[in-house]
Amino acid sequence: MMGLIIGLGLGASEPGLDAYQSAESAYQKFIKNPSQVKYHHNWEKLIAKFDRVAKDYPTCSKADSALFKAGKLWWECSRYSSSRKDKENALIAFGKVVNFYPKSSLADDALLARGEIYLELGDKNLARQEFEKLITQYPSGDCLGKAKTQLKKLGYPSSNAGTTPSAPLRKNDAIALLLQDSGPESESYKNSSLTELIRIRYWSSESYTRVVIDLTQRIEYTSWHLLKPDPSLGTPPRLYTDLKGTILSSEFKAQYPYKDNCYELPIGDGLLKRARAGQYQPEVVRIVLDIDSIQDFEEFALPGGEGAGYRLVIDVYGEKKPEIKIITQPGTTPQPIPAKRPTKPLTIVIDPGHGGGDPGAIGPNKLKEKDISLAVSKALEQKLKKELPEAKIILTRRDDRELSLVERTAKANALEADLFISIHCNATPDHNAYGIETYYLDNTTDRASLKLAARENFVSEQVMSDAGSDINKILADLATNSKVNESIPLAHHIQKAMIDELSKNYSAIKNLGVKKAPFWVLTGATMPCVLVELSFISHPREEKRLSSPVYQEALARGISLGMKRWLKENPSLTGWVAN
Ligand SMILES: [Zn+2]
Repeated sequence: MMGLIIGLGLGASEPGLDAYQSAESAYQKFIKNPSQVKYHHNWEKLIAKFDRVAKDYPTCSKADSALFKAGKLWWECSRYSSSRKDKENALIAFGKVVNFYPKSSLADDALLARGEIYLELGDKNLARQEFEKLITQYPSGDCLGKAKTQLKKLGYPSSNAGTTPSAPLRKNDAIALLLQDSGPESESYKNSSLTELIRIRYWSSESYTRVVIDLTQRIEYTSWHLLKPDPSLGTPPRLYTDLKGTILSSEFKAQYPYKDNCYELPIGDGLLKRARAGQYQPEVVRIVLDIDSIQDFEEFALPGGEGAGYRLVIDVYGEKKPEIKIITQPGTTPQPIPAKRPTKPLTIVIDPGHGGGDPGAIGPNKLKEKDISLAVSKALEQKLKKELPEAKIILTRRDDRELSLVERTAKANALEADLFISIHCNATPDHNAYGIETYYLDNTTDRASLKLAARENFVSEQVMSDAGSDINKILADLATNSKVNESIPLAHHIQKAMIDELSKNYSAIKNLGVKKAPFWVLTGATMPCVLVELSFISHPREEKRLSSPVYQEALARGISLGMKRWLKENPSLTGWVAN
């Protein structure tokens, strides 16, 4: 929340310092308490506090220390858990120190730590790269001696570091895909502002596949290009993009098998065969998607999340290859394949906001948004299951876990949901503000809506209101595809029913109305969708009410009533007929 208090003016203490201090004092308490240290989730909670400082105050003088601390804590945590994942998280956090704050006095310490972690993971080659990077980039740092000693132990004379020229590049390859791995001696490491490719992930659904490319930081946006199949070479259609100023991170290389000069992620879901990535030039990573079937694709970029500083998203639409081949007999007219619209039950996806290391907003009495959003979502689920017994009701999370925004809508899309509702609690630094509001996705210039969207999306308000920003480009793109026309009446029905239900038993229920905002959790959803702000967790009276199961129940009752009214009005949209 504090990230939103902007423009406090001169004289105020540096923003972010308080958050850092409070994370630090939480740490001091934590390490003295052996019963706390035993549990992994306590580590995660503490690390999230430091992560949050860097996320919310990236320009604060403690941002680098916060990331460094996050790295150290993951590393320390891995000693208790013996988990490889914890060590990898440490690598990512330390990597961010090096990439985001190359001038920080902790950057060389972070490189040293990365090298040592790779040694623990048994990867001498990657460890060597980190030590060499340190020696080349931070020759006057206080870690120089340690890095040299480590290199010597590994059997490499440190004087050779960084002097081997990079391998010559193969050009004009028939497929243009024989990718060169620039290797540990690459010149590219000399430029410390390079972006690193962390990982590639994908989600499959019936009609499209979403591929997410996680990078350490923002890059100049480059579009995807579609290459037609070449029968003479036997190559399938491909989509590719070149990421400038980008290198493959050591984590990335460690994750995927290396084949034919690139790292390969098999997909094989009927739309995409696989994804490949390689160091095409010393500072250019090329990513290729080999395609089975494509009709269209959508691309956009998102700011960080889940350990990444920047994410590129591409949705590839197409028809999955049918399993049965249609054989046309001579003399007969081929029969059109009947449009396959299986009688699918009405599917409603309920998305409890936040979770895990992301508590959402926190009330004056420490009530957490993530807990209330989950409680109301579960109450709503119970109601809908009872009232719409034939419908399929899905929660994006059922327990206290962190879920990315991309994942939330991808889940709903994969299920071909008919309706998506995201449940949140409102908050503002002004403790007098209260009321209930419902949002649908749209572009907006309304300042308060932008502020709220910024909070829910974890970016600064400035980014949200910048007309040329990516989010606005994405919205311009998606506005034509999103189901705004259906979402608006849905939002109105839900809002009205909530207000009516609450007003029966509570005083001072304020109707803040239906609003529009560019929530990322809602972008990318291909069904009507709304976001409900149940009440203000920052308002003492509403915080108290939100914690009560009776109030939660009334909210759930209102939402389900509103949904049913909308469904009744739109039987054709969902194929569902109200009884
Ligand atoms: Zn929220």
